[in-house]
Amino acid sequence: MKVVVIGAGIVGLFAALEIQRTGRHVVILDPGDPGGRQAASYGNAGWVSPAALMPVSIPGLWRQLPRLLVDKSGPLVIRWQHLPRLLPWLLRFFWAGRSWKKVEACAKLRFELCRDSVVDHQRVAAEAGVSHLVEHKGALFVYPEKSDFLASQFYWEMRRRLGFKVTELDKADLQKHEPNISDRYQFGVLLEEECHVTDLKAYCEAIAELIRNRGGEFIRAQAKGLMISGGRLKAIMTDERSIECAQAVLTAGIGSKKLAAAAGDRVPLESERGYHVMIADEGKTINRPIMPTDGRMGITPMRQGLRIAGQVELASVGAPPDWRRAKILHQWLSSILQSPPVVSDKVVDQWMGHRPSTPDGLPCIGPARFCRGLFYGFGHGHTGLTQAPATAKLLAALVAGQEPHIDISAMSVHRF
Ligand SMILES: Cc1cc2nc3c(=O)[nH]c(=O)nc-3n(C[C@H](O)[C@H](O)[C@H](O)COP(=O)(O)OP(=O)(O)OC[C@H]3O[C@@H](n4cnc5c(N)ncnc54)[C@H](O)[C@@H]3O)c2cc1C
Repeated sequence: MKVVVIGAGIVGLFAALEIQRTGRHVVILDPGDPGGRQAASYGNAGWVSPAALMPVSIPGLWRQLPRLLVDKSGPLVIRWQHLPRLLPWLLRFFWAGRSWKKVEACAKLRFELCRDSVVDHQRVAAEAGVSHLVEHKGALFVYPEKSDFLASQFYWEMRRRLGFKVTELDKADLQKHEPNISDRYQFGVLLEEECHVTDLKAYCEAIAELIRNRGGEFIRAQAKGLMISGGRLKAIMTDERSIECAQAVLTAGIGSKKLAAAAGDRVPLESERGYHVMIADEGKTINRPIMPTDGRMGITPMRQGLRIAGQVELASVGAPPDWRRAKILHQWLSSILQSPPVVSDKVVDQWMGHRPSTPDGLPCIGPARFCRGLFYGFGHGHTGLTQAPATAKLLAALVAGQEPHIDISAMSVHRF
């Protein structure tokens, strides 16, 4: 009844917790701390977004590629020297968003992974004794012009159709909700369902503590390979020793690619590198998370200050961070908030991390093809915090040999 969980980011932690609920003993492997700086789960924007339905690839996006390659200050950059290696992934990425019909089909699947995320996070936060870290204040999307909002109707109509409450705010209403937002924003949309985590590291640590208190074991080691015999998982090899097991879940974020390959599955998983800067903010400058749609970043009020998180940088996992990306995020702040400055200029942290991204906007959830006993739960890209609870329930069902509560065939590794 032992199950090894490889990776202690938010997906691995939720998976371990759900697997424990089925009466199994969990052993969690990670060379770093649960939700530590090495994990994407440490530095994201903290949004739990049931309405994060849209994949990144949409029709016509490929036309922007040449501009993206030259514009170094935009929200997406590709480092030239990595382009040849990234090309197959990029082609699949653009192909996945080739029609609105495809986008809608993907969004419906994503909805299944996102829909219960707020209640699930609130439930787990309460169990872990950290309800105060999950704040339910909605999220605000702000537009320079109403016409910008009207141009993105497809997104909002789909959300409305799926039952989300979409509240449109004119400039006066927007200022009432967020008095410190720059008056160059003429229009806003409030999504009341969204919530946010105000300290991701503390949240992950609290979940890890809950798992420990329920008998779970943490081993600080890196999984290096798999021992497979007769098509069955026998052990996980680590840099320290091998750990015998008949079942394991692979939830190692961007680190999953190598281990899936060791099990015979070549998955097109790439890092969409992202950045954040934290600014000291004792005055609570904004009341809730804000997405300025012209800058495409998440600004979140957190315990340690205001976090500005975003940017997509396509390079390689090992390439050194380019802190100019963090600077671009910081520079945006002065045009998003009121002038003269209403927030300090003191940077208290900056960070770079890896969104583990498949080209089609769906994670890999399901059994490995050539290794019985191994299950995948990785590739959540931009929305892993949101999708962690649903992924965890699916993994727990798979490990227990039960039918998952939703059809996950489109998330299978077979699709590649
Ligand atoms: C700038 C930015 C903003 C974001 N904003 C949001 C947001 O607001 N909302 C949202 O839902 N999502 C957001 N995301 C995405 C989200 O952060 C990720 O999808 C999510 O954290 C992925 O979680 P994970 O557990 O799969 O991976 P990770 O958090 O990366 O954890 C993987 C863990 O596996 C370990 N590991 C790796 N290899 C091995 C190995 N061989 N053996 C053992 N352990 C291993 C690592 O050490 C790490 O601890 C954002 C991402 C970024 C970069």
